Amino acid sequence: MDRRSFIKNAGLAAGATAAGAAGLSTPALSAGKEKLTMVTAWGRGLAGVFDAAQHFADSVSAVTDGTLEIDIKASGELVSGLPAVFDAVTSGQADMYHAADYYYVGQHPAFAFFTAVPFGMVPSEMHNWYYQMGGHKLHLEVGEEFGLTSFLGGNTGPQAGGWFRKEIKSAKDFNGLKFRMPGLGGKALGKLGASVQTLPGSEVYQALASGAIDGTEWIGPWADEKAGFQEITKIFYTSGFHEPGAALTVATNSDRFNKLSKAHQKAIEVCAAETEQWSLTQFLSNNSLALKRLVDGGVKALEFPDDVWDAFGKASKEVMDENMDNALFKKTYESMQNSMKLSNEWNTLSSVAYTKQRTRVLGA
Ligand code: CA
Repeated sequence: MDRRSFIKNAGLAAGATAAGAAGLSTPALSAGKEKLTMVTAWGRGLAGVFDAAQHFADSVSAVTDGTLEIDIKASGELVSGLPAVFDAVTSGQADMYHAADYYYVGQHPAFAFFTAVPFGMVPSEMHNWYYQMGGHKLHLEVGEEFGLTSFLGGNTGPQAGGWFRKEIKSAKDFNGLKFRMPGLGGKALGKLGASVQTLPGSEVYQALASGAIDGTEWIGPWADEKAGFQEITKIFYTSGFHEPGAALTVATNSDRFNKLSKAHQKAIEVCAAETEQWSLTQFLSNNSLALKRLVDGGVKALEFPDDVWDAFGKASKEVMDENMDNALFKKTYESMQNSMKLSNEWNTLSSVAYTKQRTRVLGA
């Protein structure tokens, strides 16, 4: 906005206020008070993921001057279990959910793309696709089948390979391994012979401690340290193939969303995007410090060997190929791949080349 139009608009705003003070009608300036019930996939206070839900609710309240209130129901408070969170919103029992959409690949396989897929995008690539290259439009298209209006509303950053009782020397070590990993990544591990389970975060520690599972992925150093997996095993793989930048979703029942004022709809959209950035940086800023503490406490931070990565890649491609008979999955996959290829080409020539040189010159 140039200075002249700013002054003009400021004058209009002052006039509107004066008219309001004089008791004239104030057309649609004050939206009515609304309250939305939000169910979440997370236990109350769960590091990072519940924080994102809370941050979103606080932001919405702040930008709407308290006219739109989000009443958060943590896991177990209104409904329990991952499917119930989805069902509560599609049935209208609750107004919105905060969850990871890949929990709902059983409802539609394309939901996977809006959290993370194996060998998919890092957060900057995800944002490029979602906000500029058609990703959000596809999120709405998948949601439309269930009456949901969805926005990304959180991001854990690149997730770790996870915790194991024994080191992984070759892909054969996954054969017969009981491992917790949701989404299409879990299906890829199944191709390597693993017995894969999708457990909610709240049940993982107990399952690992009791030996019900041999290993687990959760999120990364910070959230995993809070979960306490280092008390059970010291073998930790820092990089994983399955969730290179896991996004979280705020999904609203579309009938409810469409009845909100345009300002409240925009508040949800804007605060979801703001939460996406806030959440991503919350994870990134905490992970390095947490990893240092874990290593100081005796945790071995390892990387999978190249031939294990090759096996992850082959299995992941098989899983993606198996879903291509679903037209919307195929369309979303192709859109994502096209965007990822384009952004990777420029990223490699710009930020990757730059940080390599910066590290060489400055050591940081
Ligand atoms: Ca995970």
